Amino acid sequence: MVSDGTLTPEELASRAKANGVELWSLTDHDEIGGQRRAAQAARAQGLKYITGTEISVTFANTTVHIVGLGFDDEDPRMLQGLHDTRGGRGKRAMEMSDDLARVGIHGAYEGALKFVGNPELISRTHFARHLVESGVCKDTSEVFRKYLTEGKPGFVPHRWATLRDAVTWITQTGGVAVVAHPGRYNFTPNEEFALFSEFKAHGGQGVEVVTGSHTPQEYLKYADAAREFSLAASCGSDFHSPDESRVDLGSLPRLPADLTPVWELVPDRIR
Ligand code: AMP
Ligand code: MN
Repeated sequence: MVSDGTLTPEELASRAKANGVELWSLTDHDEIGGQRRAAQAARAQGLKYITGTEISVTFANTTVHIVGLGFDDEDPRMLQGLHDTRGGRGKRAMEMSDDLARVGIHGAYEGALKFVGNPELISRTHFARHLVESGVCKDTSEVFRKYLTEGKPGFVPHRWATLRDAVTWITQTGGVAVVAHPGRYNFTPNEEFALFSEFKAHGGQGVEVVTGSHTPQEYLKYADAAREFSLAASCGSDFHSPDESRVDLGSLPRLPADLTPVWELVPDRIR
């Protein structure tokens, strides 16, 4: 509702509950406007809740996502930081549209806007939904394969928050910072080492090990990274929509038993 998922917080909470989730977090991109509603929806379902967001960061010329869990969602430092990083999205979207027009796809900005719930948060996912609806591609994964990703028409490089800023916003407001789906960045071993080292130096404490964006081999690889870098482990579905997501809420395997789950680092933040 406030970023690029298609279900409401109430629908998500009841889906999570029905699927056996014990502790849930709504992690909108660069936005926490849905937190209060999500916490209330969780309470109505008898589901434990922890605040969440997924902050876009530029690191080594790549967009990296940093998940924050358990922060204070009313803290002005978090609200201001996220407001500032959302600021560039409108201009980027117009440039994406211009780029698509150069390959004969016209009116993509206006088309994407029809799918946008929060005017400050137009994302590539909204363009993808428009390109599917208008028949350019058969599904959103084809859109990302042919457009909107590095080297393809419609991709506009963008400078998001710094790694230091994102980790600081999360930790200074009482939360724990987590590197989201590291398997998705195609980093070299050196780049990945730099990411985990700098992340830890800024106060980051967790890595997503089991996620809808990882293969089972990547579960093992990033469980090893968690051990090597002494990071706690997180688990996230990356669920956006019943039609678009490979993995449903509550359907991922458990974290390896020897790793510390990130939420155990912030027990007082669980509601
Ligand atoms: P943005 O924040 O505008 O760059 O858009 C990020 C969104 O694009 C996230 O919700 C991702 O899940 C989605 N996304 C990025 N790459 C892909 C991909 N290859 N297939 C499907 N969705 C993707
Ligand atoms: Mn998303």
